Amino acid sequence: MKLMPVLFAAATFSILNPALADEKILNLYSARHYQTDEALYANFTQQTGIKINRIEGKEDELLERIKNEGANSPADIFLTVDAARLAKAHELGLFSPVSSKLLESRIPAHLRTDDWFSFSTRARVIVYNKVAVKPEEVQNYADLANPRLKGKLCSRSGSHPYNLSLMAALIAHQGEAKAEEIARGMVSNFARAPKGGDTDQIKAVAAGECGVTISNTYYVARLLRSTKMDELKMMEKVGIIWPDQAGNGAHINVSGGGVLKTAPHREAAVQFLEYLASDQAQRYFADGNNEWPAVESVKVANPALESLGKFKADKLPVKNLAMYQTKAQMIFDRAGFK
Ligand code: FE
Repeated sequence: MKLMPVLFAAATFSILNPALADEKILNLYSARHYQTDEALYANFTQQTGIKINRIEGKEDELLERIKNEGANSPADIFLTVDAARLAKAHELGLFSPVSSKLLESRIPAHLRTDDWFSFSTRARVIVYNKVAVKPEEVQNYADLANPRLKGKLCSRSGSHPYNLSLMAALIAHQGEAKAEEIARGMVSNFARAPKGGDTDQIKAVAAGECGVTISNTYYVARLLRSTKMDELKMMEKVGIIWPDQAGNGAHINVSGGGVLKTAPHREAAVQFLEYLASDQAQRYFADGNNEWPAVESVKVANPALESLGKFKADKLPVKNLAMYQTKAQMIFDRAGFK
């Protein structure tokens, strides 16, 4: 994040300098910043001659910024994590539809919409303390509402997109009434008021402060691949469950992006999305954050993720996740899931 002012200055310079107007350029607003990203972008430039100006920032801030820049926004592409945020960009009318045979053939139908595409996937799993909770008690998301887990559940905020998207999936599969029942049950099982991120919850579970939580898989993988002895020791105390394996499968969320309606370099932007669906880019994109490639034929060797075993993934279209965001927030509000 320290690099941001420099990157920003570079981007502004080339956008405003008319001498560089003919240069092939792509302005990327990205909420992703991982080590493998350098190679990811360098390869695109090498293949196409298109230089990438990157503006990095927090997901919601970038979205706000694009909104505020309006018609004058230099942004060509918005890349972010979570279907909820991508859906929000769509609802704000920021994206422009892209029709690309290549994207249609590479990205599975359930992972794309008319105007935004997923490029990697992550699952939301149950993490439990091996001493405090029996694995058979926490096989499904709905189990987290079971009164026998009273005082044992920890969670990040209910207004966080990861939990909203999970709730959206529960609404889609089980209906609003059942989803609300689960939310209420979860709230009455809280060991403490929601706070912190997924990693904080895993740590609290390992420390015995809570018995169980939910986390995105890349946080689990990151800790399993940690070079710190205390984190590795901590992970020995917790078990991981792929939820809803006898039902709809583990809830899947995505990171992805789309071409902005006001994109000054639309052609380059579409080219970039197509590049992100290539074998090589898919590997960089997914592995940089311990995720899975959206393109099914692309395999990434990630020992930490593989150690969690095979699982059934929910194939609910990302469109549907987007559709139920507002309802999900209303349910959390009513249930007091702050
Ligand atoms: Fe995250």
